[in-house]
Amino acid sequence: MATVDLKAVKKRFGSTEVIHGVSTSIADGEFIVIVGPSGCGKSTLLRMVAGLESVSEGEVSIGGKRVNELEPMDRDIAMVFQNYALYPHMSVRQNMGYGLKIAKLPKAEIDRKVDDAAKLLQLEPYLDRRPRDLSGGQRQRVAMGRAIVRQPKVFLFDEPLSNLDAKLRVQMRLEIRDLQNRLGITALYVTHDQVEAMTMADRMIVMNAGRAEQIGTPLEVYERPQTLFAAQFIGSPS
Ligand code: ADP
Ligand code: MG
Repeated sequence: MATVDLKAVKKRFGSTEVIHGVSTSIADGEFIVIVGPSGCGKSTLLRMVAGLESVSEGEVSIGGKRVNELEPMDRDIAMVFQNYALYPHMSVRQNMGYGLKIAKLPKAEIDRKVDDAAKLLQLEPYLDRRPRDLSGGQRQRVAMGRAIVRQPKVFLFDEPLSNLDAKLRVQMRLEIRDLQNRLGITALYVTHDQVEAMTMADRMIVMNAGRAEQIGTPLEVYERPQTLFAAQFIGSPS
């Protein structure tokens, strides 16, 4: 089970506390969006879930196991960033299979996993191309493919669409949700874009200055914002 539990999670950089105690339980297969303005702590929270940042106080666990106690290879997590640097000198196939090659999987198995992911992402016609010969959306799909081939249980996204134009962004939102549904993966998705959060989230964590102002479905937050910030950032003007 890929549940993710945050218990009174705090983060300090030196003497400055930037996450002031966030708690929530994320169900298996749920799509959670962490939304809030720049600098509110979204990436830091996500990086703690990924085990890339230590937890100063409280607990982050995945499938009941504390993240800090899991070996990196046992975390079953994949992360997709805004700057999804693909290797320019490698083909799409090599880019997607690179992590598996590092993990020393046999070539036949790597090829099979890459083929499966390429099919899922409609990248089959592009497997032999270099990244520079792809559109922005195709490159983003390769970045997701690279994550999917590892068959993660938890998918972490940090503003993955920020570099794309508006039209493509709308299309990719649907693609990401569709993919997550089909794979049944638990997802934590960070964005500063309210519309993206409202359209993609099963539940959203509305963050402001290191605190979760409200956690709920888009409809709940929209119709019944619990704080002034949540009302102004997301809610209906009532
Ligand atoms: P967001 O992703 O919402 O824009 P971040 O999580 O990147 O916000 O940052 C939250 C706060 O933590 C900011 O005030 C930022 O300056 C600070 N911060 C982030 N990373 C570090 C770091 N490595 N050292 C010190 N401060 C940091
Ligand atoms: Mg960030």
